[in-house]
Amino acid sequence: MSILTPDLIENYINSLYRQEDEQLIRMRAEAERLLVPIVTRDMERLLTTLCSLRRPKTILEIGTAIGYSALCFAKAAPEAQIITLENRERSVHKARANIREAGLEDRIRVIEGDAGETLAQVEGIFDLIFIDAAKGQYRRFFDLCEKNMAPGTLVVSDNVLYKGMPCDESYVPERRHKTIARRMDEYLSFLTADKRFETSLLAIGDGVAISYYK
Ligand code: SAH
Ligand code: MG
Repeated sequence: MSILTPDLIENYINSLYRQEDEQLIRMRAEAERLLVPIVTRDMERLLTTLCSLRRPKTILEIGTAIGYSALCFAKAAPEAQIITLENRERSVHKARANIREAGLEDRIRVIEGDAGETLAQVEGIFDLIFIDAAKGQYRRFFDLCEKNMAPGTLVVSDNVLYKGMPCDESYVPERRHKTIARRMDEYLSFLTADKRFETSLLAIGDGVAISYYK
């Protein structure tokens, strides 16, 4: 259940979701069972459509988890080389195993470690950057990979409306979420004010910002 979309609408949209790839079907089921926060079905569709539009040849992802979205990118952008960053050792192993199973080791490279550190070793300009990791650190991630952006880069920031928390205090359930809510609010203010980018903020999935570097 998402706070951003009424259940009836969400169920309807999900009923129209099609996935024929056996491995992705299996991975989504496993993620749901183990509560791994992979992209929602509607976000997956949006990313796929964005790839059809932008046709990225290079993709940088911050937050791999089990490699689900990385595999989606690889399939939606058949020419793309993908670098994905993950700090949890167990997730890195899982992701690498899934990537191997898909036979995509030559196109997806998983770099293990805190993206706050590993981003320094990522070189070159990326056509698409997907920020999908620790919600309190989006601004830091953005600043660290600014060197990897240029006109034409599409930056997609996932989960930016985090259960409504950045929108209003009444959505913040506990004190410990306050900082994350405030930081995400600051990130979105920064992003929407940055004149280099054309940014759209959409209330799908858990909220997504799409920023195109003009
Ligand atoms: N993009 C994935 C889901 C990522 S979930 C998908 O949609 O399939 C977020 C992931 O970010 C988690 O696996 C978490 O371990 C990782 N993460 C959180 N903070 C991080 C950091 N500072 N550096 C690298 N990875 C991080
Ligand atoms: Mg996400």
